[in-house]
Amino acid sequence: TAVAKPPPTPSPLRFSKFFQSNMRILVTGGAGFIGSHLVDKLMENEKNEVIVADNFFTGSKDNLRKWIGHPRFELIRHDVTEPLLVEVDQIYHLACPASPIFYKYNPVKTIKTNVIGTLNMLGLAKRVGARILLTSTSEVYGDPLEHPQTEEYWGNVNPIGVRSCYDEGKRVAETLMFDYHRQHGIEIRIARIFNTYGPRMNIDDGRVVSNFIAQAIRGESLTVQAPGTQTRSFCYVSDMVDGLIRLMEGENTGPINIGNPGEFTMMELAENVKELINSSVTLKIVENTPDDPRQRKPDITKAKELLGWEPKVKLRDGLPLMEEDFRLRLGVPKNA
Ligand code: NAD
Ligand code: UDP
Ligand code: UDP
Repeated sequence: TAVAKPPPTPSPLRFSKFFQSNMRILVTGGAGFIGSHLVDKLMENEKNEVIVADNFFTGSKDNLRKWIGHPRFELIRHDVTEPLLVEVDQIYHLACPASPIFYKYNPVKTIKTNVIGTLNMLGLAKRVGARILLTSTSEVYGDPLEHPQTEEYWGNVNPIGVRSCYDEGKRVAETLMFDYHRQHGIEIRIARIFNTYGPRMNIDDGRVVSNFIAQAIRGESLTVQAPGTQTRSFCYVSDMVDGLIRLMEGENTGPINIGNPGEFTMMELAENVKELINSSVTLKIVENTPDDPRQRKPDITKAKELLGWEPKVKLRDGLPLMEEDFRLRLGVPKNA
C-alpha cells in the first residue's frame, strides 16, 4: 500500500522562517482582483515580505500601485507556465483568468495555466519546502445536482464544453495538489471560491456584478441573461481575503468552500443594483451562454467549524462599496 512520505526537511533555502522572523510570501496572480486585495492585507503585517508574480493578462500594475517601491514588496512580470525560482515560505497560487470571457478567449492557454502553472508552483513548493494554497473554484461542481454544494460533492462537469478549460483545469490542479501532498509531503491548502465581487473588478470582463454596476452608472439597461431565475451567491472581497488567510494559517488542507451562502436570482441582483445605484434604469432579458449553471450556493459548515470563518458583508452593503471605485474608473461622478 502507498504510504505518504514524511514532509521534507525544510531546505536551507527556506531561511526566512529560521534565521529571521519575517515570512516571505509569493502571490501568483497578485495583480488581479482578489490577488491585489490579498496583497494589501498581507502587506499590513510588517513581518511579511510579498512577491507578486503576474503576466498582466487580466491584472494590472495599477491594482498594486501603492506598493510599488515599498521595501517589503516585489513585482515580477512572470508567466506561471514557465518555471520560477524564488525562495519563499508560503505560496498563494491565484494566477488564472477567472472571468468566462477571458478564460474562453484562449482556452488552451487557460488549461496550461491551470495544469502546468500549478505543477510549476508545486515544484517550487517542493524545492523550498513552502506551504501552497490553490484558489480553486465552485465551478468544480459544474452544473450541480446537489444543492447547496458541500465539499464532498464530486460535481457535474462537462469535460468537453467551452468552460472545461477552466473547470476541468481547476479539477486537475486540485488533483496535482493532492498528489504532491501524498507523494512528496507538500503542505497544501485548497480553497473553493464562490462568486466574489468588490472594487477593482475588471469593468469589461462580463461578470454579472461588474456588468450591472457599470450599466447602472452609465444609465444603460441591466442585461439579465435568460432565464434570470438562475442563482449565484456573492461574497465581498474583504471576506474572501480573510477566509483565504485563515485557511493558509490553519491546519486543514481543504478543499474548503469559501463564499457567501446568501443566494440570489440574477433578476433579484439586478433589482438590488437598480434600487441601490440608479433607480431610473430598466432591466432587459438577453441571451445566455452555453453550460450556464442554474444554481449555486456554498455549504460553509466546514469553513465555520474548521476556520472559524463566515462572511460579514451582506450583498446590499457590499454593492454600494463598489460604486465609488467604478465611478472613478468610468469617469462618471455621482451627480453627473
Ligand atoms: P483576475 O483575472 O482578476 O486575476 C487573475 C490574475 O492572474 C491576473 O492578475 C492575471 O494577469 C494573472 N494571470 C493569469 N494567467 C497567468 C499566468 N499564466 N501567469 C501569471 N499570471 C497570470 O481574477 P480573480 O477574480 O482575482 O481570481 C483570482 C483567482 O481566484 C483565480 O485563480 C480564480 O480562478 C479564482 N476564483 C475567482 C472567483 C471570482 O469570483 N472572482 C471565483 C472562483 C475562483
Ligand atoms: N519548478 C519551478 N521552480 C522550482 C522548482 C521546480 O518552477 O523552484 C518546476 C519545474 O520546472 C518542473 C515543475 O516545477 O517543471 C515540477 O517540479 P518537480 O521537481 O516536482 O518535477 P520534475 O522537475 O522532477 O519534473
Ligand atoms: N449574467 C447576467 N447578466 C450579465 C452577465 C452575467 O445575467 O450581464 C448571469 C450569467 O448568465 C450567470 C450569472 O450571471 O447566470 C453569473 O455569471 P458570471 O459570469 O458573473 O459568473 P459565473 O457564471 O462564473 O458564476
